[in-house]
Amino acid sequence: MGSVTAANHRFIEPVAAPAQAAPRLQVDKVSLSYSKPGGGTFTALQEVSFDVPDQQFAVLVGPSGCGKSSLLYLTAGLAEPTCGEIYVGGQQVQGPGADRGMVFQSYTLFPWLTVRQNVEFGLKRRGMPAARREEIVDHYVHEVGLDGFADNYAKQLSGGMMQRVAIARALANDPQILLMDEPFGALDSQTRLQMQQLLLRVWGNSKKTVLFVTHDIDEAILLGDRVYVMGARPGRIKQILDVPIERPRTLDMVMERSFIDMKREIFGLLHDDLEAAH
Ligand code: ADP
Ligand code: MG
Repeated sequence: MGSVTAANHRFIEPVAAPAQAAPRLQVDKVSLSYSKPGGGTFTALQEVSFDVPDQQFAVLVGPSGCGKSSLLYLTAGLAEPTCGEIYVGGQQVQGPGADRGMVFQSYTLFPWLTVRQNVEFGLKRRGMPAARREEIVDHYVHEVGLDGFADNYAKQLSGGMMQRVAIARALANDPQILLMDEPFGALDSQTRLQMQQLLLRVWGNSKKTVLFVTHDIDEAILLGDRVYVMGARPGRIKQILDVPIERPRTLDMVMERSFIDMKREIFGLLHDDLEAAH
């Protein structure tokens, strides 16, 4: 087949989508069952399908136990779906890989290493020369506002600072997608607001695709381009909503009409699910 340029593309039908338009993440009919201790199985995820386009900030929101963490673990390749497939950059996920950067709620830094050593960990393992590593570490340490802390030990840092390091470490590896599981869930509310703004700024600069998990509706709307609302029993996607709020996002937007309307809509979807459980 001859090449299709952007200019003539729309006049030719049917035509395969250009390669760069493929979604960065594709979750295709993914189910996950856990075996129960007494026998039988528990369906944690049932036929979950969705796409995340390149450079999009996607947020999964849903009640505790609806399978958000499970879905992130599957995408990270730390567990395997019972049925279905997950593709990152068109490649099927078949195990963990440096193309997916993870930031979890619980701090996953090496406490006995310095900030610099934590951030360069993956780069060193890949055999990157020291001078290039230093350049990348300096860049991301600066990005997350930790100039002057590169030689501090991780164990000396506050929770918010540790999460800054975790974000810098994930981005330093230049992943295709950043997977974040309630990364600010353990922080006090003031630090959490600061970290949300920091993440928005860093994301704006890095242009990474993000899959972010939260059970906080405000956080979902403030950060996301799109919110994927999940339901429980069994875990599934109930609805996908575009966030109609311009960027840059600032905290005062939580009082805007469009923000409140969307909050009410998501609350309704989550509430339906709670009612159904009784
Ligand atoms: P969420 O992150 O949305 O709170 P999880 O993905 O952690 O949800 O869990 C989804 C469901 O699967 C929950 O009901 C949880 O109890 C169950 N579950 C999670 N991990 C396991 C496991 N290793 N074995 C059995 N059940 C599990
Ligand atoms: Mg979870």
